[in-house]
Amino acid sequence: MRFTGTVKSFVSARVRTVVCNAAVCGVAVAAAVSVSTVATGAADGAPTEPAPGTSGLDPALAVSYTLASNEARAQGVPLWITSGKRSDAQQRQLWRDAIAAYGSPEAARRWVLPAEESPHVRGDAVDVGPREGASWLEAKGNRWGLCRTFMNEWWHFELATTPGTPCPPMWPDAAVRADRLARH
Ligand SMILES: [Zn+2]
Repeated sequence: MRFTGTVKSFVSARVRTVVCNAAVCGVAVAAAVSVSTVATGAADGAPTEPAPGTSGLDPALAVSYTLASNEARAQGVPLWITSGKRSDAQQRQLWRDAIAAYGSPEAARRWVLPAEESPHVRGDAVDVGPREGASWLEAKGNRWGLCRTFMNEWWHFELATTPGTPCPPMWPDAAVRADRLARH
């Protein structure tokens, strides 16, 4: 798959689903289009190759991460995906390994979620490295809507804000968020 003129529509469509209401929709879409144009330099229609590791991710996340990783490369910052989309079977194995490592499901859940709760299985999360690149992405990623989401995982990022606006506060860990979501 190659991203061409669809970069803008992927990003702005995602923004519309996340935040569109009468007050902010127009602003958000305009911001998304300007962000993608500036970041890719693709106003002339030049194709942008998806970044390694984005296969299987939600298209909006794949595009946003690709734009961020292009900018990181331009700035000489090392950044790569260590884990993106995971299969159900992969997540189940990680879950079993985590229970063994942490001693109980309750302890494991802070670090690895069961397959049915994991954003990686849905294609909605990327883990990145090295630490330098993750720090850069934490500082700059909101330009593309990318945010670090958990205080205990410096490597884990999701699409969590409108491009160009601040990221929401981090959750303490994945278990806290999953429990909160399950109650609503
Ligand atoms: Zn993760």
